[in-house]
Amino acid sequence: MESTYSEVEAEKFVKHYPDVARALALRAYTSRLIGADPNLVLHGGGNTSVKVRQRNILGEEQEVLFVKGSGVDLVDIGPDDFVALDLVFLKKLRTLESLEDEEMASQMQIHKLHISPLNPSVEALLHAFLPHRYVDHTHADSVLVLTNQTEGPNLIHKALGPGVAVLPYTMSGLPLAKAVATQYENHRELEAIVIVNHGIFTFAEDAETSYERMINFVNRARAFIAHKIEGKPHITPRADIQFVQEAESGVARFVQTMRGACAHRGSDGRLRRFIVEFRNTQDLLEASVSNIAQTLCASGVLTPDHVIRTKNKIAYVDTLPKNNTDILKRINQVVEDFVKDYHRYFREQVRARGFDLQELDPYPRIFIVAGLGMFALGFSRKEAKVAADIAEKTICAKIKANAMGQYLPITDSHIFDMEYWPLQQKKLGQFSSLLLQGQIALITGAGGAIGYGIADRLLAAGAAVVLSDIDESRAEKVCSFLKERYRNGEIELIPFDVTDYQSAASAVDEISRRLGGVDIIVPNAGIAHVAKIEDLEPDKLDQVIAVNFKGTFNTIKAAIPVFKQQGTGGHIIVISSKNVFDPGAAFGAYSASKAGSHQISKIAALELAELGVRVNMINPDAVFGDGEISSKLWDLVGPDRMKSRGLDFEGLKEYYRNRNLLQTQVLAEHVGNVVVFFASDQTPTTGASFPVDGGIAPAFPR
Ligand SMILES: [Zn+2]
Repeated sequence: MESTYSEVEAEKFVKHYPDVARALALRAYTSRLIGADPNLVLHGGGNTSVKVRQRNILGEEQEVLFVKGSGVDLVDIGPDDFVALDLVFLKKLRTLESLEDEEMASQMQIHKLHISPLNPSVEALLHAFLPHRYVDHTHADSVLVLTNQTEGPNLIHKALGPGVAVLPYTMSGLPLAKAVATQYENHRELEAIVIVNHGIFTFAEDAETSYERMINFVNRARAFIAHKIEGKPHITPRADIQFVQEAESGVARFVQTMRGACAHRGSDGRLRRFIVEFRNTQDLLEASVSNIAQTLCASGVLTPDHVIRTKNKIAYVDTLPKNNTDILKRINQVVEDFVKDYHRYFREQVRARGFDLQELDPYPRIFIVAGLGMFALGFSRKEAKVAADIAEKTICAKIKANAMGQYLPITDSHIFDMEYWPLQQKKLGQFSSLLLQGQIALITGAGGAIGYGIADRLLAAGAAVVLSDIDESRAEKVCSFLKERYRNGEIELIPFDVTDYQSAASAVDEISRRLGGVDIIVPNAGIAHVAKIEDLEPDKLDQVIAVNFKGTFNTIKAAIPVFKQQGTGGHIIVISSKNVFDPGAAFGAYSASKAGSHQISKIAALELAELGVRVNMINPDAVFGDGEISSKLWDLVGPDRMKSRGLDFEGLKEYYRNRNLLQTQVLAEHVGNVVVFFASDQTPTTGASFPVDGGIAPAFPR
């Protein structure tokens, strides 16, 4: 790990922010260098600060502490992500005996010197009390591998030398800030202070030195560990381990089952489903089948800062049965045990403190499954990835710690203080109020106008969306439009052939591996062919039936095993057609195959109700593209219709608008709105047909 400080880059950075104090621009620059190295910090971990003298509007000089906003990720931090605080006032807080959390948070708000929506880092006081201009703080795993051992402080002294002091773990806030400042004042030669089970602070008068001290000490810790464990086997595989056969489908079945077992009702009564991130690097696979896998999972986080992301413990599955019913039993048991253990921990900690609190959800965020790898859960994909990154580092660090001696985690009591600290909870996003948050939807035929409209509405409602289309280039185009519009949206592209059951089944497994499972299935792929029966080639009819009828059947059938494993119900919303009720001449292949698809959907409604899966149909008419994405169907039948009616494209749209009762043009987003309506369980409805056609009397469902 080398210093990546560059004089040239630093100057460029300063020039990029001409209105910002040079010291602050440099602060942001070296903060980014720290943020870019996962060996130092992960996702919003760590914090940095700089002290600057500035004049206020009256020309009076002020001492300002710029400290990282809480939860801001160092990797792309800018000057605006630092909160400006009145340093002179903050230093006076050191005279207090104690400071309640709420009061500390209010004082930080009161003593801001610039307007900022951010809360300052929870370690702001520590930054204020140290006299150095620059203070850098990380939770570097190498440092924690050394501190989290019985001989922790000794190991730090040996590894990092005399320029570093070690303090016992103290909760962030006034007491820790005071302890660190006092330690420095008594030993002015110090270049860094390590807090056991927490992390390391370096400091200096200039940005480069403070940053390079961080690199230097973390490197020393790494070298020390490497030397200590050199030649030692880190882990040995369990003797009894059986690698899971057909690992790919094993991953899919496991993740679907586990996602279902962890779904739970929030206090608002809504079902909270997770998005899952799966990892199976060599390190994780080896850890999963090692003789210490159970210990690795049960032994707690590296630093309490991680507990809100990963929970303290990891759920371990030592063997995964082969058949689906046994997998269900096994996973339900693992989750139940984890939940019981969490309740016990919560009750004990609350009892010890003598006051009551609202318990957080007791479900695991990380699973390790022998032979398969690691699975991380989050209410959004971003949250799942953050948890996965942290857990992956944690597991590797614990393996090293165990190879050196014995990994010694922090006590439950300290974990609890951090997990239930309101200032820490503020860092987490809330489960959003969007109707379909946490749900995963698959749309076939997503490369066309209707598919695009449906995907757009589902994303707006908070669902993760998987696009599929046999025409990959069309699907890619839709995907890129949607990614542009929904920058935080979760969008995957998994093309498959709906006419082939195996292809559909593999796609559903692939969705599960990438996201965790599936909740909303929208069979929408369809093709058209214009010919009177007299002229209709039987082969052509077969093709239309293969996509429109069998495609719907295959997609529904492939989803059933997932719904069964998840056990959380689900939705199938079939894009049918106005033609099912009101067919047109020379459109037999389309109308008849759509009627078949409509009928099989009704059968699905009958058969899947016992799984809590609702099946509904939408019957649109004359949905043209909106310019960005054309309708494949109209690309195909439009020219013929225009010719027979002597109209151009605009004229044709006009014709269809005028023929419906409401005299309105039907848009793809109208179809998307109904998909969202059905998928959000607003009425107890299954087996229904919902026309989206502007009102066409012969097509009224009956
Ligand atoms: Zn920290």
